[in-house]
Amino acid sequence: MDNRVFNECYCRSCGREHTTEHREYECPSCGSEDVHNTSFLTCNCGERVYLGSFTNECCGCGRLYNPFGQELAPVREWDDDDRYECFGPQNDEYYD
Ligand SMILES: [Zn+2]
Ligand SMILES: [Zn+2]
Repeated sequence: MDNRVFNECYCRSCGREHTTEHREYECPSCGSEDVHNTSFLTCNCGERVYLGSFTNECCGCGRLYNPFGQELAPVREWDDDDRYECFGPQNDEYYD
């Protein structure tokens, strides 16, 4: 399944949100450059997942996505080396 990534542009000047394909450097409504861009995708379950972190969890179904919108295997299926690289040394019980 290919999840298309879009951009959400929030204008701090007029408070509007715009969904665009790419980053915006000006607000499409008022022209202000005081905008905040966040990429997101729509999960297979219908929830919007914001891609601001290395791993981004869907609050609806728990799927994990990387910053490019590619779905990642559930954390519990990662081997210990991958887990260590992403989260550092942590007690395994943390994931249970
Ligand atoms: Zn604006
Ligand atoms: Zn989901």
